[in-house]
Formats: sequence, structure tokens, C-alpha cells
Amino acid sequence: MTTKIGPGGGPFRLAGGFGLGLLVAGLVACGQGQPEAPDTEVVTDWVQPTAELPVREQDLPLGQLGEAVIPTHYALDLEIDPVRDQFAGRVTIDVRITEPVDRIYLHGRGLQVSAATLTAGQTRMTADYAQLHDSGVALLTLPVAVSAGQAQLELEYQADFSTTLDGLYKVVENDRAYAFTQFEAISARLAFPGFDEPRFKVPFDLAVSARPGDVVITSTPVRRSETTIDGAIRHVFETTPPLPTYLIAFAVGPFDMREPGPLPANAVRDIPLPFRGVAAAGKGPQLAYALDETEALLTPLEAYFGSPHPYPKLDIIAAPDFAFGAMENVGAIIYREQLLLLDAHASLGQQRSFGMVHAHELAHQWFGNLVTPAWWDDIWLNEAFATWMAYKAADAWRPDLLLPLQAQRRALDTMATDSLQSTRQIRQPITSNDDILNAFDGITYRKGGAVLSMFERFVGETAFRDGVRLHMERHAHGVATAEDFMQSIADGSQNPDVVPAFRSFLEQPGVPLIETGLDCADDSPTLTLRQSRYRPLGSAIDANRRWQVPVCVAALSGDQREQVCHLLTEPDASIPLGRCPEALLPNAGGAGYYRWSLSAEGWTALLQRLDQLTPAEQLSLIDSLDAGFRAGVVPFDVLANALPVLAQQPNYEVATRLSQAWAEYQSQLVDAPVRAAMKARLASVHAPQLSEQLGLDPRPDESANTASLRGALARILVEDADAPALRAQLAQRADAYIGPSDGAMDLEALSGDLIGPALQAGVIERGAAFAQRLWRRFDASTDAILRQRILKALSRAPQADVVSEVQRRALGEGLRSNEVIQVLREQFETAATRAQAWDWLRQDFEAIRERLPDYAQDRLVETAEHFCSESRRAEVVRFFEPRVDDLMGAPRAYAQTLERIDLCLALREARAEQIAAVMAAR
Ligand SMILES: [Zn+2]
Repeated sequence: MTTKIGPGGGPFRLAGGFGLGLLVAGLVACGQGQPEAPDTEVVTDWVQPTAELPVREQDLPLGQLGEAVIPTHYALDLEIDPVRDQFAGRVTIDVRITEPVDRIYLHGRGLQVSAATLTAGQTRMTADYAQLHDSGVALLTLPVAVSAGQAQLELEYQADFSTTLDGLYKVVENDRAYAFTQFEAISARLAFPGFDEPRFKVPFDLAVSARPGDVVITSTPVRRSETTIDGAIRHVFETTPPLPTYLIAFAVGPFDMREPGPLPANAVRDIPLPFRGVAAAGKGPQLAYALDETEALLTPLEAYFGSPHPYPKLDIIAAPDFAFGAMENVGAIIYREQLLLLDAHASLGQQRSFGMVHAHELAHQWFGNLVTPAWWDDIWLNEAFATWMAYKAADAWRPDLLLPLQAQRRALDTMATDSLQSTRQIRQPITSNDDILNAFDGITYRKGGAVLSMFERFVGETAFRDGVRLHMERHAHGVATAEDFMQSIADGSQNPDVVPAFRSFLEQPGVPLIETGLDCADDSPTLTLRQSRYRPLGSAIDANRRWQVPVCVAALSGDQREQVCHLLTEPDASIPLGRCPEALLPNAGGAGYYRWSLSAEGWTALLQRLDQLTPAEQLSLIDSLDAGFRAGVVPFDVLANALPVLAQQPNYEVATRLSQAWAEYQSQLVDAPVRAAMKARLASVHAPQLSEQLGLDPRPDESANTASLRGALARILVEDADAPALRAQLAQRADAYIGPSDGAMDLEALSGDLIGPALQAGVIERGAAFAQRLWRRFDASTDAILRQRILKALSRAPQADVVSEVQRRALGEGLRSNEVIQVLREQFETAATRAQAWDWLRQDFEAIRERLPDYAQDRLVETAEHFCSESRRAEVVRFFEPRVDDLMGAPRAYAQTLERIDLCLALREARAEQIAAVMAAR
């Protein structure tokens, strides 16, 4: 990163606008802060030229700010008019100074500070403000040293609205301008100067002046609104409970407000909770679904924690453009529109996403908000818990959606990343801003969630819950570390053994591999277990690693099941069994975060007993089978034999899981003729299921599983299989759905779960003409879900001209920032568009980069992870090597991308011939 030190970078200086007099008058007028006492000594005759500051980059506090100055309260007064390009602010920060200082480090990024003062006792002095580093490390230099004690900082500033979906940014839709915030992790400093670290949890008094037509939402209810002398409305809000900077939020604009009434009191919460929905103008009616479903998601959370929603109100806000899925801001949760604005035509996939994300953000009100990590190395405490807890709450909300199975599938997906040498551990030391960004990844969320599930099973659900409740009680409205958490779980569950075992998963990377053996030679049958680190073919990782793994093995004989659970702390263990089983399932219940292996006969025996396994166990089996193939242990014909058997399993995740891996192999590992045979195989397995067993039209009262299976099969058949008749049928439906250019869409032509695959089929079958009709619908709509579906179909088009059009538009005004991210992802995921996407990325790199938020820059590098040839690898190195240090969060993404390509090359080298031989023999 470059720095802003010295004359070249230039510190941000006063840009006119506000003077100190106005600042003081403002404070007096709003009744906050202290009126200037007549006997205050004002020190103003000292200014040090900031260009000469003797601060070298290595001396800057780029991580934590230190202990010399601790904030205790903020009064933040903002002027936000999203029609303008700039906003203005005034912040008063009460601080406790712990040792004499003549300089104060704080955070502020891109702020034009026009006045800065420090008041300590009877002394008031002007301070000199300068931003010293791109990341937003700033320095206040004082004319004289201030001794330890209480003091007050006051800063007045203005700044540009961000253009990259972070800090305080604006979105224009239908000629109406809105402002939103996204402060996590380190972007509050774009909106106000302060001590932008999670450990500083203090009360905030917030006030926002806005134009009369605009609604203003922040963390707490409004206390009063008053008209200012220049005609704006100044909204003053209730003091917040103690909060870190990253959880403050603002939303300002001509919103549609929906107020269905408060969420009623319940067994845990004895007062109703004020509750509103907020959306861009015209979109209020689309909030109905989310408003109706919120109580059913919040109630199980309050019951689990045994404590009420910890804040005085709840607003859920749909933002037309938002970088993440959602953000758990206290009292003002902000969502990407497609997650919150669902209608009757929403697919089950969208309903699952809504339930999961909404429950996740609500769970954060405890994990993260009520109890906050002291530093970003413990962000897993927020994200792993919210992920794990969300599945619990969302499963209670809609058991028919089978959400715990989705959680398990995602955790298994994450094992691919966790099998890399360049993976992170869940609790990773944070030494740079890149590390902070990297911490928000699948390892934190999904592996973290899976490890929690495993230890919940280990100590028991009630005991674990008691530990969680104890943790919330101990640290309510404060901060806590991983150590605090483990102590709470050990104390609450009265099971101290959990701590070292938990730590073995938290503080080292990788996936354990449990190899099982069976000795039935005499009359005391023995199960042997051996642990190592899972290592795919071509990997240089050291397999010699030890965890404390809670292993549960099911020994199957006839229809009998004997279950043995053992905490495997040593490299090997021998466990006596009651009788010699016919088959072993080494991850009974599927809740263990590990992979396992069996002998060839062991696989055959287990695959013959698939019906005795739960869907969670079946998913674990598919993962370990696939992992065995990638490690060079399981031959391809075992996968080929398992494919049709697994496809017939009733659960939709199970029935399509191996087919997804199969599709990846056919696109990466083999040449065209073998690929054609593999596509034909997928079609022969799945096409009859869709066309004969399920049909394209939902039956009345069919289960969510059936509808989901229909959607998943259609997706595979359109994208990965050779199924022309079915594709033509779906294209015809898509045609009817989109409707004529001069008429309306026919929303009844397709069920929600078929819309995506059908639009894709339409583009494949009908090309540019159909694409033009899709663009007309896209341009005419601000419906995020419809736009997302259309963009997906167009981004994955096999026709080069259709893809070029998507790329051209991605750089123009018509696409939102989050839609540009989607285009990149879709085009690189799809084998047919990958080469064209790569040419585009290299050619228009700077223009694409400018359209992405800082924290999406690592995704530019990750696009290349699907390549599987030496020549592409060389291109990736040539292109990214010189750029990687300049992209936020990219060094790790780059290492992982190259490693994935290398592993794929090794797998191709080792397996391509075997796959070809197996396919030729069929
Ligand atoms: Zn989260």
C-alpha cells in the first residue's frame, strides 16, 4: 500500500465550509456537549506544518491504536443529503487519556477536516489533523502535551460520498437518491473520525440533518426532529447502548416505510419490539413477506439465548445496491434487495437464502453486537456463530426447507479450500488490513459453523446452550475473546475437555482424515482409527498433523446399527466392537468436521447400504468418496458406479451432489470426446428423473424437497448435461415467461425453481434475439431478483456476442456494483464463457476494478481459480504477479488460486486416462 506521508501524498486540509464558531454555536443549540466557558484558555498560536511530521510508515499504528487514548462517548452530528456529492459532520468524542500525550492517533479516511480542538479541564487547544496512511490512520498533533485524565475532542469535516459501497455511500434509483452505510470492517472512518476498532464499545448520541422529504434511519429511535435555520430537518436520536463504530448505521432517502406494528411480547421478552420495514420508493409492498416472517425467525433466537432482542427497535432495510448479503447493524439491519424483497414467485432457493441471511443477521444481535470480539482475529466468534445459529433458527422457522443439510453441504464445500496449503485457520492472527479482509471467508463462516456443530454434539445440546447463555451474561454490552468464550463453554457445560479439543480445530488449518480399519480375526472385533491431515494429489502439505477429533462411527450389520463415539487425541486408536459389522460408516450423523476413508471392500459394502444412512450421512459419504478420488485413493469407476445410485436418493442435495463434482471433472480434467461421453452420462441419469418422474409443473401440495429437486435437476441438465429435448422444452417455457416485447410477462409460465434454468435454456437455444428480449425486461425493472436471474442467464451464454454485450454493459451505468461482481463470477464459473471472460478481465482490468468496492478486489484474482492448464497458469502469473500487492486482500487469494490450478493439473495428470478408460468401457 502506498502512504500519504509528506508533500506528495498531502494530508487532507481545511476545505472551507464550517468554522469553529459555527461548531460551538451548533453544540450549544442542540444542548449537547459543553458551552464554551468564558474562562477557558484557548491555545491557538501554534501550528506545526504536517509535511514535516516525523512519522515513518513503520511507526504508524496500522493495526490497533494503542492504549494512550480511550474513547468513552461520541456525539456525532451529520448533514446527509444524498442529492449532493458531499456530506458534512461534526463529532465530539469524550476520551480518557491514560498517559501524557502531545499526539493522538485515530482513524479518518478521505475526510476534509476543517477544525479540530481538544478540551481538557480549563484548557482548550486547536489541534492539527492529518491523515497519514491510505488505510485511514490519522494523527492529531497538539500544541502542548496533555496530562492523563478526561478530555474532549471535537472535529468538524466534510467528505465525498463513497462510490464503492463502503463507508457512507449513495445509490440513485429512478432519479431518487439514497444514502446507506457499510462500516464493517474498517469503513466507519470514511464517515467520521474516531477510534475505529471493535474493542471500543461506547454510547453514541447521533443526529442527522436531512432534507424535509427524506426519512432518516439509524441505530436507535428518534427522540425529536426540529427544523434548522436553513430549512433542513435535524433528527436527534436516543442515546445508543455501548457500540463499536462498525455497528453504527445510517440510511437516508425518500423511502417507502412499512410499519406492521411491533413484534409482540413473548415468553422471553416482556415488552413489544418496535419493528419497521424500509425500502426504496415504490418497493414497500415487496417487504410484506419479510415483515410477515420475521417474528418466526426472531422467537427461536430469543428462546435459545433466554434473553430478549438486546436493542430498543428493529428496522430491516432493503438497499438497491449493497456489497455484501446483509449487515447486522444494531437496530438497522441493511440487506441486499434480492434477499429481502421476495414475492409469491420466489424460488425455494431464494426463500432459503432469505431465512438463512435474516436469521444470521438477527443472531448477530447477540453474537457480535451484544458481545463483540475485542479484535478482528476473533471475527469467527461473530460469523461462525451467526452461521451456526441461523440454521437452528431458520430450521425452527421452516423445517420443510431442510436447511441444516444445506449448512452441512456448504461446510463440506469449504473443505476444498481447507485442503489447500494456503488456507487460513479459523482464528488467524491479524497483522495487516489484508488479513482483516481475508477473515471474512468460508473458513470463518462455514468451517467455523461446522466446528461449532461438532462440539455442540460433543458436549450435548443443552450443556452447550448453557455455556452460550453464560457467555452472553458475562460479557453483555462488552467485548470478549476466544479464550473468554471457551471458558464460558467449559464452565456452562461443565465439560472442560471441550477446550483443548476445540482449540485444536480453531488454531490450526486443514481437514482431518480419519482412516478406519477393522480387525475381526478373533472373537473380540476391533475398530482402528488413524488420523492425519487430508492431502489431495499434488499437494505439498505435511499430512502429519494431530487434532482432538470427536469421531463417531456407525457399525452396520443387517438392519442393526452400533454407534461408537471416541475423542481421538492420539494419532491412532483401537476400539472394541460388540460384533464384527458388515459395513462401517466413519462419520455417524455426519456432524464431524473430518473426511474419512475405507478399503475398496468397505466402500462397496457401505454403498450397498445407502438406504440405512440419513441424508447428512450420505452427504458426508459423497464428500469422502470424492476426496478419496482427488487424493488418488478411490478409482474413478467407484464414482461412476455410485453416480446413478446416489441420483435416486430422495433428498435433493444428495441426489445432485456427486453430479456437481462430475460436471467439474468433465469440464476440467478431460478432452472433448470424453467430455461428451460424461455429459451424455449425466443426461441419461437425470433426464428421466425430471421429465418422467417429476415433470415440469409442480403438483399441488408437493414438498419443498421435490420442488428443489426439480430445480436442481433442471440446472444440471441445462448447464452440464447433453439433454437437447429438455432444453428445448424449458426454452419454450422461458419464451412464454418473458412474453412478447409489446406485452406483459407471463409469471405463471414457470415455477420459481425453474425460472433460472429455463432462462438459461432460452439463451442457449435462441441466442441473441432472446437475449435482447431479456435486456428489455432487465432495463425496465428495478426488481433485484428478476435482474439477477436475467444477468445469470446472459452471463453464461455460449454465444460470444451475447457475452460481449454483458461485458460492455457491466462497465456502463446500467449495472449496479453488486451486479458487476455477479457478472464476473458467472462468466468465470462457466466453462463456455471462461476464455472470453479472461480476455475481458485483462483488457479492461482497471475499468472493472473501479466498479468494485475495495473489499471485492480479491475476487478479481479468484476468478482465475477454475483454470486447469499450464498455459493459463502462466498467463495468470504474468498478469496478477505485478498487481497482487496493490489489490486489497489479494495476496492470499492469489496463493490459493495458483494452488487450486496446480492441484487441478496434478489431478488431470493422474486421472484423465483413467476417466477416459472408464467412460470408453460404458
Ligand atoms: Zn455475519
